[in-house]
Amino acid sequence: MSIPTGRFAPTPSGRLHLGNILCAMLAYLSARSRGGRFLLRIEDVDIPRCPRRLARQCIDDLSWLGFTWDETPLYQSERTDIYRKYLDHLTADGHTYPCFCTRAQLMSLAAPNLGDTQVVYQRTCANLSPAEAAQRALTRAPAIRLRVPDEEVSFTDGLFGLQQENLARDCGDFILQRSDGLFGYQLAVVVDDALSGVSEVVRGRDILSATPRQMYLQHLLHFPVPQYLHIPLLVDAQGRRLAKRDKDLDLSALAQLFTPAEILGMLAYSAGLLPAVHPATLEQLIPLFDWAKVKTDDLRLPALDSL
Ligand code: GLU
Repeated sequence: MSIPTGRFAPTPSGRLHLGNILCAMLAYLSARSRGGRFLLRIEDVDIPRCPRRLARQCIDDLSWLGFTWDETPLYQSERTDIYRKYLDHLTADGHTYPCFCTRAQLMSLAAPNLGDTQVVYQRTCANLSPAEAAQRALTRAPAIRLRVPDEEVSFTDGLFGLQQENLARDCGDFILQRSDGLFGYQLAVVVDDALSGVSEVVRGRDILSATPRQMYLQHLLHFPVPQYLHIPLLVDAQGRRLAKRDKDLDLSALAQLFTPAEILGMLAYSAGLLPAVHPATLEQLIPLFDWAKVKTDDLRLPALDSL
């Protein structure tokens, strides 16, 4: 059997947040507690939103917290030729089509929302003739969508159990490349996880509903399916969802107040790995790690001012 390979794949559009660090910690402990490899991938595929300065800051913050990784971190912004190659495969096999819809059109045609932010595409451009598409491309650069079948995809999440989704009904034809040329998250993640040999994907529960789309891409591209473990949301001591705008919960503020071991200790406590809040390094947490201790309810932080 090959060595378990986990990864953390942050989007550096801001400073690392406690929720990101929790995810990194669980991904790391899960891999390392089984003698596995751990990789870091910077998901800056949306290049304008993710300046290199923030990516470097993210790497420095992870090092400060004590994380180590086994290969040089990948930057998605440097891998666009690779994504293009896989997109070309999908297009050559007839799985894609150009979509000329504007954002305003998409919103006005949207079917009732399914999932948090997901809108099922109504296939307005799915059956354009090649001549029509070529004509439209003269005035508007298209996005490229993946045609999905009316099929169920199911998988067993390591924490949330059996998940099932009908691709056509629940997610619709989704974007692989945006009209501005940037590649979509789904394609980049699938290609990178497969080419890096990732066998275990630990990430936030907010991405759970994207997994069937990614599995369909894996199927089309003949990639193996990793084990998925989506982790519950981290909420504050009052049970409120943490938001990126809570600046006091990102590392720029926390690093002034707490040591790395204090930050990891409170997250490990929230995740059920420690019976009480006390400082703990990653090395100290490795032998304590067990997925059976992590519950699927929201993970509640201790009150930060009481520490
Ligand atoms: N880049 C995504 C995020 O920061 C995570 C994607 C993944 O882990 O697959 O939310």
